[in-house]
Amino acid sequence: MEKFQQSMYDLIVETSTKLPKDVRRAIARAKVRENAGTRAAMALNTIVENIQMADENVSPICQDTGLPTFKIKVPVGVNQIEMKKAIRAAIAEATKNGKLRPNSVDSLTGKNSGDNLGEGVPVIKFEQWENDYIDVRLILKGGGCENKNIQYSLPCELEGLGRAGRDLDGIRKCILHAVYQAQGQGCSAGFIGVGIGGDRSSGYELAKEQLFRPVDDVNPIEELRQLEEYIMENANKLGIGTMGFGGESTLLGCKIGVMHRIPASFFVSVAYNCWAFRRMGVKIDPATGEIIEWLYQDGEDVDFAKELEKAEAAAALEQGDTRVIDLVPPLSEEQVRQLRVGDVVRISGVIYTGRDAIHKYLMDHDAPVDLNGQIIYHCGPVMLKDEEGRWHAKAAGPTTSIREEPYQGDIMKKFGVRAVIGKGGMGAKTLQALKEHGGVYLNAIGGAAQYYADCIKSVEGVDLLEFGIPEAMWHLRVENFTAVVTMDSHGNSLHEDVEKSSLEKLAQFKEPVFK
Ligand code: SF4
Repeated sequence: MEKFQQSMYDLIVETSTKLPKDVRRAIARAKVRENAGTRAAMALNTIVENIQMADENVSPICQDTGLPTFKIKVPVGVNQIEMKKAIRAAIAEATKNGKLRPNSVDSLTGKNSGDNLGEGVPVIKFEQWENDYIDVRLILKGGGCENKNIQYSLPCELEGLGRAGRDLDGIRKCILHAVYQAQGQGCSAGFIGVGIGGDRSSGYELAKEQLFRPVDDVNPIEELRQLEEYIMENANKLGIGTMGFGGESTLLGCKIGVMHRIPASFFVSVAYNCWAFRRMGVKIDPATGEIIEWLYQDGEDVDFAKELEKAEAAAALEQGDTRVIDLVPPLSEEQVRQLRVGDVVRISGVIYTGRDAIHKYLMDHDAPVDLNGQIIYHCGPVMLKDEEGRWHAKAAGPTTSIREEPYQGDIMKKFGVRAVIGKGGMGAKTLQALKEHGGVYLNAIGGAAQYYADCIKSVEGVDLLEFGIPEAMWHLRVENFTAVVTMDSHGNSLHEDVEKSSLEKLAQFKEPVFK
């Protein structure tokens, strides 16, 4: 079991820090499709740079290391109880070593267990089979994309697409709608797994199961093969693009599975996964516990180091029409009102992290620091303390901002905050507050946790650590932290524009295709 525990540790580290070859090829294809000099191309360049950095640093690709889910097939006679214990120990060790973020939270008290263990966490599912080796697959799926999963009960009416009936064409409409509704919030460009049939829970399980299929495999069921091909061809025409910035690459993979259902129910369940598609697998020798083979590693590898344009993302944009503006907080209202949607900003100075717990806290407490003119970063970083007691950011990309929508505008006004950085954009209430108060929303590149950790030159302090590492308010000194203005103080929102234009494009798929 000692060797098995080590094998599980290696699997966890590899999954968190290195994308498998099939995913890398899909990202490389997206990069070729995207037009140079656009915001989407800049976002993809940052993603590629981030993948490269995670490889080199053996650090998490994204700071949200998700809910670890293991799917294990074992020969008869293997001790599952001991395997479970070894996996839990490996998870705790990987968390201690900064390869996973402490992500397990008591749902009632909000307390973070600190070691990624808890009731139902990690998820471990066993199945017996007749082969003589153990097959372990692991997926680390973060909250941003998990929150964009969606389930349809057919027949139903879909925005832009009309009625979706209980047939292949209705399924087609649901899948296109699933891509549309995710916009950039699940860190597009993404991968989707679709489960047709089952009940509400087994349907979602089937959808998630599809994410374990290699990106370039071919569906053995002819109708589903055609549907997968159709979706891949057409979903990219919605123009949502990387990070929802608009562009050519919205979907990187689509895998569809089917199971029986009861006559009264017809569910189509969709599991959305971001570009940081961290799933890996190993074959294990049951006698020794050693890894005998790594999975998802067939075929050509992509050398991103060679592919990468060495020029900094923002520098590449400077060649186009985009304005690149340096910001040093505290910011004045006048400075902020000069910013427009589409501008790229480079921030140097101290910024403050704040996500769910902090926003809720600030609604009825004073801030622990003077936030006047400051920038709040929606981020739950992976942090490690060195032997001298100094904190270091190991992974620090943006989290999904829309969760703070009920609070954001009020907090900006109450404390004089001038900018928030996050990903996926915010809603009408925040847009109105930006207009009234003089503020901007800055979209960083979701998942680019290594890229942004590299911008953090020192950790100057921390408040409210009792909320747990991801939820505390970290004071981060950054240099050249690059983000795009996607909501400004003049009532403009790139997110609103892309959503509107993609809805118009969605309508072109209203007519039946599969009879
Ligand atoms: S890439 Fe985005 S959606 Fe995926 S885990 Fe990271 S923050 Fe979440």
